[in-house]
Amino acid sequence: MTTYDELYRQSVEQPEAFWAEQARAIDWHRPPQRILDDSNPPFRRWFVGGETNLCHNAIDRHLDARGDQLALIAVSTETNLTHEITYRELHREVNTFAAVLKSLGVGRGDRVVIYMPNMAEAVFAMLACARIGAIHSVVFGGFAAHNLALRIDDAQPKLLICADAGMRGGKVIPYKPLVDAACAAAKSPPPHVLIVSRGLDPDLARVAGRDLDYAELRARHDGATVPVEWLESNEPSYLLYTSGTTGKPKGVQRDVGGHAVALALSMWAIYDVRAGQTMFTTSDVGWAVGHSYNVYGPLIAGATVLLYEGLPTSPDAGIWWQLCEKYRVRTMFSSPTAIRVLKKQDASWLRKYDLSALKWLFLAGEPLDEPTAQWITDGIGKTVIDNYWQTETGWPVLCLHPGLDLKPVKFGSPGLPNLGYKLRVIDEASGREVAPNEKGVLVIVPPLPPGCMTTIWRDDARFKASYFSHFKELVYSSLDWAVRDVDGYTFILGRTDDVINVAGHRLGTREIEESVATHSGVAEAAVVGVHDELKGQVPVVFATLKAAQADEAEKRANADAMQRRVVETLGGVARPARIYIVNALPKTRSGKLLRRSLQALAEQRDPGDLSTLDDPGALEEIRRALERGS
Ligand code: ATP
Ligand code: MG
Repeated sequence: MTTYDELYRQSVEQPEAFWAEQARAIDWHRPPQRILDDSNPPFRRWFVGGETNLCHNAIDRHLDARGDQLALIAVSTETNLTHEITYRELHREVNTFAAVLKSLGVGRGDRVVIYMPNMAEAVFAMLACARIGAIHSVVFGGFAAHNLALRIDDAQPKLLICADAGMRGGKVIPYKPLVDAACAAAKSPPPHVLIVSRGLDPDLARVAGRDLDYAELRARHDGATVPVEWLESNEPSYLLYTSGTTGKPKGVQRDVGGHAVALALSMWAIYDVRAGQTMFTTSDVGWAVGHSYNVYGPLIAGATVLLYEGLPTSPDAGIWWQLCEKYRVRTMFSSPTAIRVLKKQDASWLRKYDLSALKWLFLAGEPLDEPTAQWITDGIGKTVIDNYWQTETGWPVLCLHPGLDLKPVKFGSPGLPNLGYKLRVIDEASGREVAPNEKGVLVIVPPLPPGCMTTIWRDDARFKASYFSHFKELVYSSLDWAVRDVDGYTFILGRTDDVINVAGHRLGTREIEESVATHSGVAEAAVVGVHDELKGQVPVVFATLKAAQADEAEKRANADAMQRRVVETLGGVARPARIYIVNALPKTRSGKLLRRSLQALAEQRDPGDLSTLDDPGALEEIRRALERGS
C-alpha cells in the first residue's frame, strides 16, 4: 500500500514520472508524446501529443464490463420523477444528443452554452459536446438574463441548450423568457436555441427559425451512432465561469487529458469511490464541483452518479439520507452552506435511515466552521472531510486522502496539499514563505498540476494578471489568506480582499467568523472590515440566530456573548465594533457570503455588482439594520 506521504512526495519531486503513471488510468487513442511542457510559464501543457476524449473515457470504455450497471440516477423532488440510466442507455442517449448537435452544425471547437437544472439531459448534453469536441459552457440555471448574456458574449456559442423551466421549492421558474432576454441583450446571440421541455411552462413561446424542440430532434436521431472525436490533450474541453463573488466572472478553460487524469486519480485517492460504487454530489451541474463530481469523475471511474434536483429539506430534511440508504451511497459530497441549512432542522433526521454504506462526507466551497463540522459528524456518525478548491483548479487543492490513508481530521482545516500541488504560504509584502502558524497568502508553485485551468478563455493576459502578477516570483495566487500549522495542515482565513487591518494587526474574516460561531446561539456569521478613523479598520459582525423569533433582549444578550467570545479567543484587537443580528445573510447563488457587499453597505458605499445575489431581501434587511444601528 502506498501512503499519502510517499505519493505526495513523488508527485512534487518527480512530477513527470508521477503523472505518466497516473495517465495510465484513462484510455488514450494516441499516447502522450511528452508528459509536461512548461517552456512558456505560467502556461503549461500536460500529456502533449496525447489524444483522448472525455466522453469515451466516461462511457464507451465501460460498456463491455458494466453496460448494464447504473451510470446515472437522476432524482428530482421537484418533479417527483426518478430516472435510472445504465451505461448502455447513457451511451445511447449521448450518441443521440451528439447526432442532434451535429445536425445543427456544431462541431469541434464550437462553444455550446447549457442553461439547465440538475436533470439527466444536462448530463447528456455535456457528454455529447465532449464526444464531438464541442466546448460546453454550463451556466447555472438560477442566473438571471444579465448573467447569461455576459457569458454568451464571452463564449460566443453556436448553440444554446436550455430547459423550458427549473423548479425550486415547488415553484416553476420558466427559463425560456430569461433565455430570450439574454439573447436580446447579447451582442453575439447563438443562431439556435435548443429547448429540452419537461412540460413545465405552458406559455412557452418559440422564436421561429431560431428555437428548436429537443424531443422532436431526438426522435429523428434516436439510435444514431456518432464516432468519438479524438482531441489533443490540451485542446479545451469546457469553459466555466467563476462564481463572481469578487467581481466579473472569469471564463476558466479546462483541457481534456489533464482533466481526465486528475479526476481519475481523485476518484480513488480522495473520494474512495471505485467502479460499481455510488457517489452523491449535491452540487448544481453549473458549478465546478458539479462538472467534476456530478459528471466526469464518477463516470470516468465507472461508478454510479446520483444527481439530485431539489431542496435538501423537501419533502423533509431526511431526503438526502433517504437517498443514501436507497442507493447505498458510498461517498457524499456537499457544501457547508447546505449543512447549515440542515442544522436548522431537527438532528433526528440524520439518524432516520440506514447509512451503513456511507463512508465519507466531503464538503467544499466555503469555510466549514467547527460547530457545523462537529454537528454533522456527530449527527451521521461518519468522517466529514473539508475540501478546499476553486473553480480554477477543478479538483481539490487541500484535502485528506481516505483512499490512500486517512490522516487525522482537524476541524477548521481542509487538511494537506493534494497530490501534485506544491503549496506555499507566503508573506504578502516580501513574497517569502512564512513560518508555521504565521499568516500569509496561499500560492501554488508552478506548474499547476493537471486538472487545473489552462488559461482564461481567449484572454491569456488576464490569466497572467489575475493569478500570477501578485509577487516577484511567478506563483499562482489563490487570493486566499491562510496559515499552516506545524503538522502541515492549512487553515483558510478568508480572501485576501477581505483581510481586516486593525491598527496594523492583520485578521482574517474567517478567524472572527469562526470565533463568533462557537457561541451556541449563532446560526451563521459574516464579518467584514469597516473603515475607522482611529484604527484604520474595525471588524463588524452580521449574524443570524438559531432561534428564529428572538426578541430585542435576547438579541442583545447574544450579541454580548459573541463579543466576549471573540475577545476570549482572539484578543481585544479582534473585538467586533458592532454586531447586527438579522434574519438572513446575503449570498451568491452558489451559497457564498457576499462580504464585499456587506462591507460596502456598512461603509455607505454602493454594494457593487449584485448579479449573482441569491435573495435581494437579505441586503435590504441589512440596509435597514445599519440605519437602525442594531
Ligand atoms: P470569484 O472568483 O468569481 O470571485 P469565487 O472565488 O467565490 O468567485 P469559486 O471558485 O466558486 O468562486 O470559489 C473558490 C473560493 O471559495 C476559494 O478561493 C475560497 O475563498 C472559497 N473556498 C472554497 N472552498 C473552501 C474551503 N473548504 N474552506 C474555505 N474557503 C473555501
Ligand atoms: Mg475566486
